[in-house]
Amino acid sequence: MKIHEYQAKEILKGFGVAVPEGETTETSEGAAAIARKMGREVVVKAQIHAGGRGKAGGVKIAKTPDEAGKVAAGILGKTLVTAQTGPEGRLVRRVLVEETLPIERELYLGIVVDRASASPVFMASSAGGMEIEKVDEESPELILRETIRPGFGLQAFQARKLAFGLGLPATVVDQASQFMTALYRAFEATDASLAEINPFVITTDGRLLALDAKMTFDDNAMFRHKDLAELRDLNEEEPLEIEAAKYSLNYIKLDGTVGCMVNGAGLAMGTMDIIKYAGGSPANFLDVGGGASAEQVRHAFEILLSDKNVRAVLINIFGGIMRCDIVAQGVVEAAKTLGIKVPVVVRLEGTNVEQGQKILSESGLNFTVATGMKDAAEKVVALAREA
Ligand code: GDP
Ligand code: MN
Repeated sequence: MKIHEYQAKEILKGFGVAVPEGETTETSEGAAAIARKMGREVVVKAQIHAGGRGKAGGVKIAKTPDEAGKVAAGILGKTLVTAQTGPEGRLVRRVLVEETLPIERELYLGIVVDRASASPVFMASSAGGMEIEKVDEESPELILRETIRPGFGLQAFQARKLAFGLGLPATVVDQASQFMTALYRAFEATDASLAEINPFVITTDGRLLALDAKMTFDDNAMFRHKDLAELRDLNEEEPLEIEAAKYSLNYIKLDGTVGCMVNGAGLAMGTMDIIKYAGGSPANFLDVGGGASAEQVRHAFEILLSDKNVRAVLINIFGGIMRCDIVAQGVVEAAKTLGIKVPVVVRLEGTNVEQGQKILSESGLNFTVATGMKDAAEKVVALAREA
């Protein structure tokens, strides 16, 4: 689960991470009022679940309260397109108005869970401010890494090593170690999968602060963080994914053209692979689960058809606990109410497969029946191409 910058900063502050002073608002008058109250130059920052805002015009400095109001008016209600939003962009509903700081250097700090070492890895780089992915590609030696043993946490020597590695003056090394320790504690206590400060700045008067903050939490741990779960902003999430979650369907939007309805995550991945192998590209990952009802199947099919990018649908079901006749029934019901606008290829195998096929063939609807996974993938990719 992702959260906004202002929310991440509030959490981090609670763990002793230094952040600039600021407040959020949804109106330009509000922005002017915050700036007036602060009585100094401010920076107005668009709050969306995506980075790259600076370059896209979503982060602007205002010298006076009037200017803060004007700048906020120019950002609020706009659709911001950044390197991370995709071409459709994100509507800005809220801005963070913060004190500006006299920046001496912009650095980078980040903690992620590293699969290879099955541990959190603390990263630090002197090349802060810009896209860290680019730094990693072009000059990976600029990213320092410390693997953390989960039971032990970030050790003092590791924090000092990173601080010296960043080339920080000796006078702020202790402060930097404390900052990193606080950041790690926040990461650990919130079951985060990512905590990133970019830029992490040192000011001309020798203070260290998080100028930007990004945190992502492990969805599987949200049950023990009811307070964090409340920070979820549904406006920032894919509407079809929210819809799918209502019916306990596991749906993830991708950018191809073949809609897939599958039961079980393993079969879903196998299906996506074979679609790619056949030269196509999946529009989503839709797993109806092991024992879906006809109603869930109907909702799943509705979701597939409401994705504008779907040019053909592949229903690939292996009936184990799931019965093929139930799937067929759900699909036929959905197709009858919605009307099928795209070709649908069906591959059923397993429990009650004959009944399932009978329901499909007697429905009077035009399904393409496939005999195996390879055949199904080839057929659906060809149909998606023609459509
Ligand atoms: P992002 O582009 O979405 O990652 O947004 P950031 O919060 O990282 O802001 C982008 C850039 O705006 C930063 O790298 C800074 O250079 C600049 N910026 C943000 N706050 C301040 C500030 O208080 N003072 C100054 N001078 N620049 C700032
Ligand atoms: Mn940033």
